[in-house]
Amino acid sequence: MTSPAELRHTAAHVLAYAVQDLFPEAKPTIGPAIEHGFYYDFERPEPFTPDDLIRLEARMKEIIAAGHPMIGMTVSRERAIECFRDNPYKVEIASEIPPEEPITLYTIGEFTDLCRGGHAASTAEIGAVKLMNVAGAYWRGDEHRPMLQRIYGTAWPTQAELDAYLVFLEEAQKRDHRKLGQELDLFSIQEEAGGGLVFWHPKGAAVREIVEQFMREGLRERGYLPVVTPHVVSEKLYETSGHLENFSANMFGPLEVESQRFRLRPMNCPGHILIYKSHPRSYRELPIRYSEFGTVYRFERSGTLHGLTRVRGFTIDDAHLFCTPEQLQGEFERTLDEALRLMRAFAFSDFEYFLSRREPHLRAETDELAEAAIRGALETFNLPYEIDEGGGAFYGPKLDINLHDAIGRKWQLGTVQVDFELPKRFDLKYRGSDGSDHRPVMIHRALAGSMERFFGVLIEHFAGNFPAWLAPIQAVIAPVSEHQFDYGRQVAEQLKTGGFRVELDESNEKLGYKIRHWKTQKVPYILVVGKNEAAAGTVNVNERGSSESREPMSIAAFAEELQQRIEEKT
Ligand SMILES: [Zn+2]
Ligand SMILES: [Zn+2]
Repeated sequence: MTSPAELRHTAAHVLAYAVQDLFPEAKPTIGPAIEHGFYYDFERPEPFTPDDLIRLEARMKEIIAAGHPMIGMTVSRERAIECFRDNPYKVEIASEIPPEEPITLYTIGEFTDLCRGGHAASTAEIGAVKLMNVAGAYWRGDEHRPMLQRIYGTAWPTQAELDAYLVFLEEAQKRDHRKLGQELDLFSIQEEAGGGLVFWHPKGAAVREIVEQFMREGLRERGYLPVVTPHVVSEKLYETSGHLENFSANMFGPLEVESQRFRLRPMNCPGHILIYKSHPRSYRELPIRYSEFGTVYRFERSGTLHGLTRVRGFTIDDAHLFCTPEQLQGEFERTLDEALRLMRAFAFSDFEYFLSRREPHLRAETDELAEAAIRGALETFNLPYEIDEGGGAFYGPKLDINLHDAIGRKWQLGTVQVDFELPKRFDLKYRGSDGSDHRPVMIHRALAGSMERFFGVLIEHFAGNFPAWLAPIQAVIAPVSEHQFDYGRQVAEQLKTGGFRVELDESNEKLGYKIRHWKTQKVPYILVVGKNEAAAGTVNVNERGSSESREPMSIAAFAEELQQRIEEKT
């Protein structure tokens, strides 16, 4: 059985074959399979144009139809280098293959590539293929090496699957949070302020406030104590924590004041630890749970920045728990329970759990204890999980929670980490019931992860159609003409007094225009008020996504309906 990756990697060979035929001057380099498709990087002085892609795709279809078998052959290093003597990229790859590994060449028709294998038996297995776009990519991702042209494509066993994928892509594009963020005036990222830094506009900030408030209620119910800690602290703190040693590639450089070096914080943990350490602790106080919507700054290369999902400054819904080893399991379970409540409130229902273990050279005896607590909590809730070897934090293993959005895409958001390392580095203690000092265990947990990223995911998950409890504007009052402006103001006033987020459209546009405009703004309700409504003290309710015409209702009845949706989080 050919796997999707084998099929797509074979399609990459077919692309290189087509390029060899149509653009013999281009030098192929590497061509792996990726999720849903493949790419191949070529060196060529002239850029590939959209027309070139059309010609290449047509040639690929001929190669596929010819049903060339994929023929492999093991060769000596000398033979491989001789074979690719005109292509320095292939020579470089051939020279670097470890002596114990076989060097293999694979041929389809008239095209031979240096490759370690993993293919379909024949090009005929590729049922459908499409070239998507061209982008620049450095050879081996190194900005000091030549810039190549990367052609992206997608390949599927059948045309029907390709068609479904293209529909999915179109849907994903419609939901793109960068596009909706602008159209709905939610946020911006302004180049003149530097990349990767987010400006939350009033409507985006309104959603964030609601999300935060919902989270704060959960934190209060579960006994968390809010704290606030500095964004800039002495570099020494990160020496002690190990961040300078293990995480400095992701940190902003030092700031010097009075010959002391400071750093923008990349994580909130050291600040919370200092509060724990500010006075002696007794076992009676534990567990201590500190929470903070803590903004952190991390260096990301400008090429990797992406909307709200990859940024340089973001706020973590962060908390640190300090507990005894005996309390660890229970605290972990409570945290997991809280994570599930949170995700379900935002209409996510499909999750994946990963136990991420530390790299073998970082592992300590305590990793066993930590992993046992994570496994125990997952088993308590009967949740299936996978193991991510080497995916742990530098200070300990962790639980990662991935979720699927409304169109099935996966996002990594929450993480809960068990840490025996930082309590040791900062020499944290508590006085036990036996009167002697003990070391507490820490749990680091962020359930939404970054507020920015979470907002980006919410925008895409809901396609900008925020449910009424989250919508920045819950209802717009649209008077039919200026004669109903006064009545419109009364309606707005009454609803605002009830705590609802409403807006009155006092523009002189025609009603049809107003309705179209507010529909594009995706507000849950448009309340039309004309002569009859003003006389009867009612509103005419237009609900988002519904074409059903409803009887006019009293303002109080509408307020009740909206209130119910807020309570049900729909
Ligand atoms: Zn291959
Ligand atoms: Zn932390």
